[in-house]
Amino acid sequence: MTNPYRGLPSVDRVLQHDAVTALRARFPEALVTAQARAALESARALIGSDAGTAESAATRDGAADAAISVDGIAASVVARVEETARASLRPVINASGVILHTNLGRAPLPESAIEAMAEVGRGYSNLEFDLAAGERGSRLSHLDRLLQATTGAEAGLVINNNASALMFVLTAFALEREVIISRGQAVEIGGGFRIPDVCRQSGARLVEVGTTNRTRASDYGNAVSEDTAALMRVHASNFKIVGFTEEPSLRELRSVASEHGILFLDDIGSGCLLDTTRYGLAPEPTPQESLAAGADLVLFSGDKLLGGPQAGIIVGRAALIDQLRRHPLARALRSDKATTAALAATLRHYLLGEAESEIPVWRMISASAERMRERAEAWRGALDAGQVEASESMIGGGSLPGEGLPTFVLAIAQPEPHRLAAALRRAETPVVGRVERESVLLDPRTVAESEEAAFLATVRSALG
Ligand SMILES: *Cc1c(COP(=O)(O)O)cnc(C)c1O
Repeated sequence: MTNPYRGLPSVDRVLQHDAVTALRARFPEALVTAQARAALESARALIGSDAGTAESAATRDGAADAAISVDGIAASVVARVEETARASLRPVINASGVILHTNLGRAPLPESAIEAMAEVGRGYSNLEFDLAAGERGSRLSHLDRLLQATTGAEAGLVINNNASALMFVLTAFALEREVIISRGQAVEIGGGFRIPDVCRQSGARLVEVGTTNRTRASDYGNAVSEDTAALMRVHASNFKIVGFTEEPSLRELRSVASEHGILFLDDIGSGCLLDTTRYGLAPEPTPQESLAAGADLVLFSGDKLLGGPQAGIIVGRAALIDQLRRHPLARALRSDKATTAALAATLRHYLLGEAESEIPVWRMISASAERMRERAEAWRGALDAGQVEASESMIGGGSLPGEGLPTFVLAIAQPEPHRLAAALRRAETPVVGRVERESVLLDPRTVAESEEAAFLATVRSALG
């Protein structure tokens, strides 16, 4: 039997192939050579996978033969190199009905935020320049009054994300000291990241008190020592403990902190500025109520229920915020001009009382089930497939666990629903749906009306 690997061309021969020569004129030599080696490696692996079986080359199918021919390998080099130059991060249509989907980039931005990012990105701006005085200014000045007006805080600071806000606040105020936290709140926030690990990384020592389901104000009080710097509440944002549970109120936590002269920190997770009960949802903590109850610092994300860009927002007492601003980590974690612009645009909508109509996350939350039924019916008509069924949209993104919004979906029954879901994901404009039992469910709530034409084209071609 001949050695099946002997038929493979050398790297040089692949590089001399016409298609690859043309490629070398357009792309860096090192990239093309590396991809030629990689393409040969996978051809070798392909041979290996059937050389291991008795039949080997004699029964190899035509497709495999083509893949290990010099033309096949050259074509693979072209595809690999072109792929490198193509944008890998691209828009996806979210028909899953999960409004804050961390894997899909969380909150879609308000139009005003996108415009603001484009404007400051395109040219220069007064990011850190006081135009009136003609001297150095602060990037935070663009957010100061907006944060004060929307949350009621004395002052605020914006950095990379909420996980960094948590670490920053603990490093700044509890380095090598103790922070008291309830066992029921030492949670995992997703992607394998756990609040206690993030906190420990700050150099603070966590002291866990109470039990998983019940923690009292006295548990915090009893744990205070000379080394205690703060007590911290962490909103258990992505799960719910029901039944025999107890948590001290914000006011009780304030009293414990005051009695012992320690800080009261509140990580509320999602920066929810509106009253969720107006939409038939459970109450979600807001920075306004935390600050009113006396939290010294409140921490939250910019891209969860706030509906803006990725950011970590810290609001609270001016003296503490001032200390944070002067800390070296403030420079290491600072947010960029695009985020600053987008966040200011998003906050402005709250200030003007137009969040529900202008911020996509709130537009989705406030849309009626009846409207979803109309849209799902229109999809069914346009596609001539599936049926409209009552279902639930989810908030997601570590907010309002177990809280669903009544909706209507287009349910497309399939013998193998996962195949249809995969075809939808692999389309030129990918669509992400939800598989339940024998159907792929497509929820209009998370599909913008401006995306509908592309959405229908993808579904039509995946079905056809
Ligand atoms: C989501 C969340 C975080 C992390 O926020 P990021 O902005 O994703 O870094 C921290 N704490 C809580 C309670 C959260 O829900």
